Amino acid sequence: MPHTVKSQLLGHRCGHSQCRAHILQAERNYTFARSLISRHSLAERQWAIIVAFYCLVHLAESLLVHFPLPRPRGMSHHDHRASAILKSANNAYVAWDRIRKDCDDCRYRMWKPRTSRVQARVLNDLEQAVKGIVASLP
Ligand SMILES: [Zn+2]
Repeated sequence: MPHTVKSQLLGHRCGHSQCRAHILQAERNYTFARSLISRHSLAERQWAIIVAFYCLVHLAESLLVHFPLPRPRGMSHHDHRASAILKSANNAYVAWDRIRKDCDDCRYRMWKPRTSRVQARVLNDLEQAVKGIVASLP
């Protein structure tokens, strides 16, 4: 399964160097998130979720390269990316939002996710969100 997603990521070829750079960074983060799910220290569990979110951040930036969306004054970059996903990769939104919330909890509320939660986010939600966003790229 990871190979399917990875080749899907690699399969997106376009003339935008900015898009390509974000796809490559998303791939690195994707691979890193997957490498952390079978590890058991708290830091590794937290970072698996944080890195999963940053995989999606870069895919959202790729989406924005192809489907630019104005960012209203005062809107955060993450909210802007969320709007882009809602608009251009709707079927990835629920999974994106779950990962974003858990990422925030890890970063700002010192949340201690169980391994089962980490696996659900990385193996189910990340997978679903990556597929949804990549499928929405032209
Ligand atoms: Zn592209």
